[in-house]
Amino acid sequence: MPTLHEALCEYIFSLKIIDTHEHIPDESVACADTLGFFNFFEHYVSSDLVSAGMPRASLEAMRNPDNGLSQEERWALMAPWWSYACTTAYGRAMIEYMRELFNVEDISGDTVAELSRRIVSARQPGWYRTVLRERAGIDKALVIRWPGQHVDVDRELFRAVPILDHYATPSTRADLEVLEKEAGHSIQTLDQLMSAQEALLDSFGAKGIVAVKIFLAYQRTLQFDRYSYAEAARAFDRIWLSQKLDLTFDDLKPLQDFMTRRVVALAAERGLPVQIHTGLQEGNGNHLEHSKPTLLTDLFLDYPDARFVLFHAGYPWAGHVAALAKNFPNVYADLCWMPAVSPAFAARTLDEWIETVPANKIFAVGGDSNYAEGAYGHCNRARRVACDVLGAKVERGYFTEAEARWFAARILRENARELFGID
Ligand SMILES: [Zn+2]
Repeated sequence: MPTLHEALCEYIFSLKIIDTHEHIPDESVACADTLGFFNFFEHYVSSDLVSAGMPRASLEAMRNPDNGLSQEERWALMAPWWSYACTTAYGRAMIEYMRELFNVEDISGDTVAELSRRIVSARQPGWYRTVLRERAGIDKALVIRWPGQHVDVDRELFRAVPILDHYATPSTRADLEVLEKEAGHSIQTLDQLMSAQEALLDSFGAKGIVAVKIFLAYQRTLQFDRYSYAEAARAFDRIWLSQKLDLTFDDLKPLQDFMTRRVVALAAERGLPVQIHTGLQEGNGNHLEHSKPTLLTDLFLDYPDARFVLFHAGYPWAGHVAALAKNFPNVYADLCWMPAVSPAFAARTLDEWIETVPANKIFAVGGDSNYAEGAYGHCNRARRVACDVLGAKVERGYFTEAEARWFAARILRENARELFGID
């Protein structure tokens, strides 16, 4: 007879999840990789290695596929720092998914060449289906598409979420020329910039995108103030006239804020939710304060018809996200990435969100990985967090077992299915 906790976990691991956030590239990109293990250092563990002290030049050499270094030589570059970085949740997750997917018990100088051989030989057409559908139990994953990237994804597994921030952040004539190329017409006025942004969004809409992403907290504050068309047009004109990088953030802000608010309004008119990066920025070195979720409050007030999904639990401001999602009908709370950053934080947060945020507004699974293998590992983490938190809620009498199952299905699948219109 399984215990209550085991039975709940079995149910949670049987759910076909909808993963609200990944950066997985097309499968052909993964299949073209020749580095194996060292291909997995575009983010996360690499950031912890640098945080631990690894020189950036060593990291670049370790992950450069074209410098002829052997697997052992690459390992030697990272070995002094690996023992410090493999203790974080990023490191633990990587060890775990490498073991589960490639059957290598211990990552070391002795095993890394064999591990890489297994990774490269596994990454053949069909691998994504194996890893994401069969092993991770993912029904659909929402994948980010960067400015300039196409949104034609494999709809069996994915739905695309484009970033359109580049329409808000031109700062030179050269930046406008990039947009002109994408738009196929000249952009010499604010009106032309606005219509190019709208046309791009509509062309993406016709291709089945399910949301729009705002990524700006990596490069500026999330405070988007109310500027008039005239103020934005004045900023645009200065950019159009500027041949060099002589404009300050204060010069550019009216246009950035105006165009970001506009993409929110356009998304709302089209029924597309807006996913927003809040909290910790991945990488090494940034202004954490720029990403504070409460900076978005004016947007929530000014666009009641938009639906805002706050990413990453606003880490470390998860309580702020809870308060915002509790207060505003148009604000949703998403834990994506957090089970990979810290399962303990994710569990504490989910425990609190269950008590504060209505059940239809919480998302608890998004791996936020550049790799299908990472998505597998991070989604399993998210399921385990849900098992632990909901199991404890049943034990303490907060939920019945049936309520806990229903809640798990909401936060791992149904909420995303409904909000993003996935059938
Ligand atoms: Zn992300």
